[in-house]
Amino acid sequence: MLEERLKKHIEAYGAITARSYQDVVLYDPVLGYYAQSKVIGRDGDFITSPEVSQVFGEILALSCVDHWIQMGRPEYVIVTELGPGRGTLMADMIRVFKQFSDFWRAVDIYLVEICPTLLKQQTDLLGKDVTHVSSLALVPESDIQFIIANEFFDALPVEQYVYDPATNSRTDRLISFNDDSWYFMPHASHECIIEESAASMVILDEIKRRLNHGAGMALIIDYGDCVKGLRSGDTLQAIYQHRRVSVFDCIGKADLSHHVDFNAFQNVLFPLSCQVLTQGEFLIQQGINERTEFLAHRNPAMAADLRMATARLTAPSVMGNLFKVLVVTH
Ligand code: SAH
Repeated sequence: MLEERLKKHIEAYGAITARSYQDVVLYDPVLGYYAQSKVIGRDGDFITSPEVSQVFGEILALSCVDHWIQMGRPEYVIVTELGPGRGTLMADMIRVFKQFSDFWRAVDIYLVEICPTLLKQQTDLLGKDVTHVSSLALVPESDIQFIIANEFFDALPVEQYVYDPATNSRTDRLISFNDDSWYFMPHASHECIIEESAASMVILDEIKRRLNHGAGMALIIDYGDCVKGLRSGDTLQAIYQHRRVSVFDCIGKADLSHHVDFNAFQNVLFPLSCQVLTQGEFLIQQGINERTEFLAHRNPAMAADLRMATARLTAPSVMGNLFKVLVVTH
């Protein structure tokens, strides 16, 4: 078992960093979270926006087509989705893309996925309309790129440090265990914990390179905040079958994630144009209410469900405020 292996490792070599812990728990090729079979959706651990409503993907697709039209309908464009989960978002986007035949002729779609089970689900759903790669760096170069990431960056590992104001220095936040209980060390108050996601920064650098080289747009959607300056606090969390559990529970079975620091994202992407909106603001600005009403009138039996799902995506008390959309353009 993964837990036993981690304990043996710590007994032999000492405490490990929070980052190494996540690397093993998430990415162990046999026992890690992403090697497991059921990870997303109503029967998995959590429900993401595309699983809430088809309108979410439709709105993102319309934003891409709209941007493409504004760019003068370039002849060739690559759309890449990072971490597509069950493939639902891209299925909804492709349905819209196909309604714009010029766009559909111009586009190649790439999916970046590392989880074999999800990759298979995506292939079963999307077939020949998409090409899989294991990292953004392997997507072909193109002058025009659209890059979509929904709840992708929160799933990447995050480094944690403990800041000591007395010495103005920081050390790795470590993980160890004794008498069968896991703990973090050194002990630190919430405001002395600093997080940085080097894995995210590498991918953001690649997005920046691609957009700078040509033109296009990235839509990065995730839960998190956009506070100026250095953010502090421990945001690492674990979800198992829709319940919040300790990050030391259900090791390899629970989903680990962290709150995205959109301010740090913007700093890396500078000087590209970046705008951070709440998910509610973005979706309403892009016409989610109109689209929902259009579908509701066409399918009266579904009207109540469609309106409820849109409210869930946009209402500040549900997903509307916690989730943010970073719109990056060049
Ligand atoms: N975007 C989907 C799923 C989000 S879950 C949705 O909205 O429903 C995170 C996704 O990122 C999963 O598909 C997971 O397998 C993938 N993923 C996690 N770490 C990854 C990595 N390092 N490289 C590529 N994909 C990764």
